[in-house]
This record gives sequence, C-alpha cells and structure tokens, in this order.
Amino acid sequence: MVAIAPSARKSFFDHAKTIVIKVGSSLLVDDNKKVINTAWLDEIAEDIAKLRATGKNVVVVSSGAIALGRKLLNIRNGKLKLQEKQASAAAGQVLLAHAWMKSLGTHQLQTAQILLSPDDTETRRKHINARATMLALLGLGAVPVVNENDTVATTEIRFGDNDRLAARVAAMIGADMLILLSDVDGLYTANPNVCGTATHLAVVPQITADIIAMAGPANADYASGGMVTKLEAARIATSAGCQMIICNGQNLAPLSKLQAGAKNTVFTATKSPHTARKQWISGSLAPKGEILIDDGAVIALQDGRSLLPAGVIAVTGQFGRGDLIEVKNKAGAVIGHGLSSYSSNDAMLICGYKSNEIETVLGYRGRDEMIHVDNLVISGT
Ligand code: GLU
Repeated sequence: MVAIAPSARKSFFDHAKTIVIKVGSSLLVDDNKKVINTAWLDEIAEDIAKLRATGKNVVVVSSGAIALGRKLLNIRNGKLKLQEKQASAAAGQVLLAHAWMKSLGTHQLQTAQILLSPDDTETRRKHINARATMLALLGLGAVPVVNENDTVATTEIRFGDNDRLAARVAAMIGADMLILLSDVDGLYTANPNVCGTATHLAVVPQITADIIAMAGPANADYASGGMVTKLEAARIATSAGCQMIICNGQNLAPLSKLQAGAKNTVFTATKSPHTARKQWISGSLAPKGEILIDDGAVIALQDGRSLLPAGVIAVTGQFGRGDLIEVKNKAGAVIGHGLSSYSSNDAMLICGYKSNEIETVLGYRGRDEMIHVDNLVISGT
C-alpha cells in the first residue's frame, strides 16, 4: 500500500469557498453550570482560524443566548414563558457574542454579530440587505456570528431552531457547505439510541420519503433540535445548491476531526449555489415593472457587470426595493431580469445619473447599482 503524505491528501473542505457552521447550545454551554464551555469554544475558534487561513469564508450560527441569559437573570427552573425566553436571549446574547469575539480575537479574527428574524431571509427586500451586509463582512475578513433575533420573535414566527436558520443563512449568502455540529454523528436508518440494528448513512443524495421516515416522528429527537428539523435544513440547503453535513461536535476541535475523517453524513446538492440563486431570483413571481437600458449597459450586463443607474433610459411600473423587474434593451426586447435596489419612484429619479450623484438626487446614499450583478439573471445564461 502506498502511503499518502498528509499534504497531498484532499482536504474535506477543499471544494468549499463559503462555509456556514451551526453550533448548538448543548455544545457551547455547560448544561449544569450554564456557563460557556470555553475550552470547546477556544478550540473551534482555532479550527475556524485555520479555515480562514486557507482562504475560506466562515459564518457561524450560534445558539446559547437563552441558556446563558437565564442564568444571568436568575430565572427559576422549569419551562420558560415566551417573555422570559426573550428576556433571557436579550441578556445572554451579549455574553455569547462577547465569548465568540474573545476566542476568535486570539486569532486576530473580527467577530460581527447578526441577529435575524425569519422574515429577513424570506422577504426579498430584506434578504438583499442582509446578504449584502454579510458578504461585505466576509469581504472585510470578519466572521459573522448569527443567531435568531429571539427578543422580538414570537412562538409563531420563530425558526424553531437554529438548524433551519443556518440553512436559510447558507442559502441566502450562496454558501457551498453547511455543517451542523450536533450530538450525533449523522443520519441513521432508525434512532440508534433505541434500535440496535440502525445503520449510519455516509451520503444522502436525495431527501426521499424513506429518508424522512428515518428521522422518526417530529417530536422524537435523537439529536438536540431533532432529526426532523435537520432534514428540513438539508432540504433548504441542498435546494439552494449547498451541501450539508451532520457530524458530532461534542469533542474538542470538531472541524479538525472532520478533516481527519470523523464519521458524518453528507447531504449532496445537485446544482451549484450560483445556478440555484438564479432560479430563486427568477422565482415564480411576475415582474412588477421594467426598465429600458442603453447599448453600453447591455454590453456591461453581458460582460457580467451590474446595472448602474447611468445606463437606464426609462422606468415603468410600480415596484418596491427587492421586487423582480424586467430589463429591456432600446428595441424593447427582454434581455434579463433582476431584483431592483430601488423603488420605481426612486429609480425614475436617478435614471441616467452617475452612482456618485445618487445622494444629491435622492438625499440619501443608496446602493451604487440599480440591479447588483448578484441579483441579476441575463436571458440565455
Ligand atoms: N436562538 C436560541 C438561543 O440562542 C437557540 C435556538 C436553537 O438552539 O435552535 O438560545
């Protein structure tokens, strides 16, 4: 047998450019003392620093605010009322973000806190803002640390758990890998805690009815957060072109362990995040308006650049920021469509102007692009 030098071995993370890592409360917060498990946090921060050093973008979705805040506020044992959960989250989130900042800071990495409500990833207008912020942070070398905005969530609108939040974040930013660090090492054909014959699945190419049945009933959790919600997360992530991995995060440095071959389940994605995003933009929604652009702008778009207000000749229809609009050339032929950075009223005011004149015309500094290239689909591409 020929030994492969470690440097020549293909890394688990090789093909991924942007990785979202979901960390559950049970890993980060010591269950008895309700304090941060700093040894664990320091080691994963080192894992993240190693990934950053190889040029990967890393986003963390971290739970733990409620567990930490409950202790800080001295709330009695037992089931929390909604307002107590929200109060706990408000207090605990400060500690949580600070702990990440401290551990990542020892590796000269900046932490940036982002709190999201479900609406922020689902409504197109909010989605383009949250995505732009997150991508700006990654471009600046920071590590966004995301949690649900629990203090304003209600039971009806909560994501329910951070598995799904992490999947929505991965889809929103076009990540190519989502890792759910869990207390199980993947998906089994049945609950391994009660079924001796349950076997581990290394790869799940498709989330079929048989796969869903393996997770058991919705309330049976053989991983905190439940396997049902993990499969739901897998559905969201893979249909956005993002591969999802479930692995055991209970040991120190779980990402290094994954790299070294720790057991896991991979849910594969059949399309790229880029293709999936173009499909998401096209969606099933009817365009709310249209813009006519000059020949120079047509060439820019075909070259893969954004649409700037300077290239826009006319705006028709009533649309808001984030709405889908059609882009037509001077002859009136549709050459593409995309999500507008401006409402129709503002778009009409700035058409023909240079991006650095937007502030003078509108009285506020909006985005430089009428439609950012990320939010644009050119016909036939
Ligand atoms: N957002 C909650 C917290 O920070 C946790 C939700 C979850 O664990 O799924 O405590």
